[in-house]
Amino acid sequence: MSAVFPARYASKCAGCGERITVDEPVRFDDEIGAVVHDDCDDAAPAPQRPAVVCTTCWLTKPCECDAD
Ligand SMILES: [Zn+2]
Ligand SMILES: [Zn+2]
Repeated sequence: MSAVFPARYASKCAGCGERITVDEPVRFDDEIGAVVHDDCDDAAPAPQRPAVVCTTCWLTKPCECDAD
């Protein structure tokens, strides 16, 4: 559970990358381990990366082909 609190200093939202201004409602996201906007829906634990498909096995990378 993460409580919402007013930002005590200006920083950057770890969820959407937008700036957080002082007194803006924010919460500490336990999955990210950083402060995000209270209403931020973009809070994702993993960075957004386009899926890369292996041309050998046609599975999404990382795949067995990268093991070596
Ligand atoms: Zn945000
Ligand atoms: Zn592969």
